[in-house]
Amino acid sequence: MAEARHLVRTVAPVPQRAAAIEAALKSHGLVNDEAIAQSVHNAEDVWLPERGARVVARAWVDEAFRQRLRANGRDAVRELGIELPKHHRHLVALENTATVHNVICCTLCSCTAFTVIGLPPDWYKDLEYRSRIVRESRTVLREMGLELPPEMEVRVWDTTADTRYMVIPERPAHTAGWSEEQLAAIVTKDAMIGVARL
Ligand code: FE
Repeated sequence: MAEARHLVRTVAPVPQRAAAIEAALKSHGLVNDEAIAQSVHNAEDVWLPERGARVVARAWVDEAFRQRLRANGRDAVRELGIELPKHHRHLVALENTATVHNVICCTLCSCTAFTVIGLPPDWYKDLEYRSRIVRESRTVLREMGLELPPEMEVRVWDTTADTRYMVIPERPAHTAGWSEEQLAAIVTKDAMIGVARL
C-alpha cells in the first residue's frame, strides 16, 4: 500500500511575491517605476477610508446631500472631490436603519468602492468571507463581533465590476449637535463595509 503523502504548499511572503511580479512586468516592459510609484501613493495616501467617512458625515448633517447621494452616488461624492474610476459606473449608498442592516462583499474577488471607502481588508478577499457572508451572514457578523438582534433584517450586497457599494451607518444617538468633522472621525471602514455598527 502506498504511503499517504501530505501535500505541503509553500507560498512566499507577500513582499517577495510582489517583487517577483514587479520584476516580471518590468522585464516585459509592461509597467514603469512612475506608474508603480503612483499606485503606491494612491494606496497609501489617497484611497483612505477618511474620504468615505466625510461622505457619511455629510449625509448625516445635510438632508439634500443625502438625497443626492441616494440618487447618484458617483455625482454626489464628486462634490467632496472624490472620483471613482471610469469602470465603477455606479456608486450605491446603502443606508442602515434601526431595522435594516446592510453588508457588502464581492463573491468573485475583491471589488469595493476603494477610492471612497479605502482598499479592501485582507479578510474581505478571503474565500471564507466571500462565501459565508452570503450563506450565513448573521453567524459571520457575530464572529466578527457584530451581534444583530434577530428581528433586524440583514441585506447582503454582492459587488460587481461596474456597481460599487458603501454602507451608510446609522448615526449614533449620542452624537446630536456634533460637527461634521467630529462625526467623520467616528466612521470606520468596517462600518462602511457593514461588518460593524457605530
Ligand atoms: Fe471583485
